Amino acid sequence: MRIVSDIASLAAFADAHLVPTMGALHAGHAALIGAARADAGDGAPVVVSVFVNPAQFNEKADFDAYPRTLETDAAFCERLGVEAIFAPSVEAMYPAGELERGVELPPVATEPGLEDAFRPGHFEGVYRVCRRLFEVTGARRAYFGEKDWQQLQLVRALVEREGLATAIVGVPTVREGDGLALSSRNVHLRGEDRVRARALSRALVEAGRFGDPGEGEAAGLRVLRAGGIEPEYLAVRDDATLGPVRAGGDARVLVAAKVGVTRLIDNAPWPGFALGSGWDGGVLS
Ligand code: AMP
Repeated sequence: MRIVSDIASLAAFADAHLVPTMGALHAGHAALIGAARADAGDGAPVVVSVFVNPAQFNEKADFDAYPRTLETDAAFCERLGVEAIFAPSVEAMYPAGELERGVELPPVATEPGLEDAFRPGHFEGVYRVCRRLFEVTGARRAYFGEKDWQQLQLVRALVEREGLATAIVGVPTVREGDGLALSSRNVHLRGEDRVRARALSRALVEAGRFGDPGEGEAAGLRVLRAGGIEPEYLAVRDDATLGPVRAGGDARVLVAAKVGVTRLIDNAPWPGFALGSGWDGGVLS
């Protein structure tokens, strides 16, 4: 496995299956890498990008505190049979002029009451980094987690809007035994906060027990509040547009909340979502 930081060296890994990450790799990232590997029977190399993208952080403290673990990430990727890690500098990703290129966010990124309302500028940064990554790698496919559902829909819209040939593949969310979605930010959850964080996935389950969006949202909220969590949002939306639920269309329930100082997001198909066998079924009280 090679670690490359300059764009010229990417030429050796053309037509790749790309897994974009910000590093601090965990089993969720491994699922993306596994999916990329499984598809690589067509001979494509698997490239994992590791870049903590300053453009997508709306709080400098969050950017500064973001875990950076390139050495362990490299060993992790090596074990999983990755061909290359692309770990560029900020200057390589954003050379002069790159940050002046226009970004016209698709509607799915700016639906009211979701990420854009709480992280202004975040999706503009995601759009910039993904567009640039797809262009410089010329990736055949790129793998994204369903854990960041709105981001996944944004990236799908981006390739269409920019006329890029990269196919976007979504990968289901990997969870801890108690239901908590894996996230690089979970390392910041200490003691009681780690326990309280279970309320997010439990709220998704509870919301899914009701067939009416308003009732589902109210039920999910009750679980969060019982766990001492006031979310930024808990919303049932159309799963493709992120707008209001459409009759006959598929839907998703999405949640974002700060647990202590750590901001967590999660989502699940709605209605009818069950956690695996590691969950005891209890609701926090
Ligand atoms: P990040 O490094 O947090 O920017 O995430 C990189 C990619 O991994 C994104 O496509 C995420 O959606 C995906 N990802 C993060 N956590 C998980 C998870 N628990 N399960 C599946 N994919 C994930």
